[in-house]
Amino acid sequence: MLVVEDDEPIASALVSGLQREGFAAESAGSAAEALNALPADFILLDLGLPDRDGIDLFRSLRAVSAAPIIMVTARGEEQDRIAGLDLGADDYVVKPFGVRELVARINAVMRRSGQKEAETMPVQVIDGVEIDRRVREVRVEGELIAFTPKEYGILEFLARDPGAVITRQELLDGVWGPHWFGTTKMMDVHVASLRRKLGSPDLIETYRGVGFKLVVK
Ligand code: CA
Repeated sequence: MLVVEDDEPIASALVSGLQREGFAAESAGSAAEALNALPADFILLDLGLPDRDGIDLFRSLRAVSAAPIIMVTARGEEQDRIAGLDLGADDYVVKPFGVRELVARINAVMRRSGQKEAETMPVQVIDGVEIDRRVREVRVEGELIAFTPKEYGILEFLARDPGAVITRQELLDGVWGPHWFGTTKMMDVHVASLRRKLGSPDLIETYRGVGFKLVVK
């Protein structure tokens, strides 16, 4: 994790906060240092740097690195934010922000890029369950199982990040869409039916009050 930030106290607070959360993090205090610190797996980019325009640096980083980039902007820098998102920034945070909020954004970005990877790898096999995204079909131990579109959607979404706890809200956004407003109660009905059809109820674990996880054995 590369933290590009010229404000030294903020940079060291972010680096130690990210390290506490289990990320390997280091900081760069200028555009030149940032380019020298590559490669990185993930870049947090403060747009207000002393030696170069942030958007300009963003372009240079994008040209040489495929790493996800979260932009850090100050309040009132809407123009930069819009420009950055137009250029393909993965997300942005507005100062001041806490490490917890940042980590949540990082995880969401990582999940979305995992999802991009899943799309390029259309057939996925997890514990005897084969998901074929090209034709939206699922085979359990070689046998084709008829799932409803929602059951398939839940399984496919959980399988994008096996072993991760996916929150009910993420599942709702991913399967029902971000514009669906309602209770998540019906989700349990679909999950119960999905478990039954999978034949191994342990494959999907419930985290009470949080969400679900596809278990990787
Ligand atoms: Ca700055």
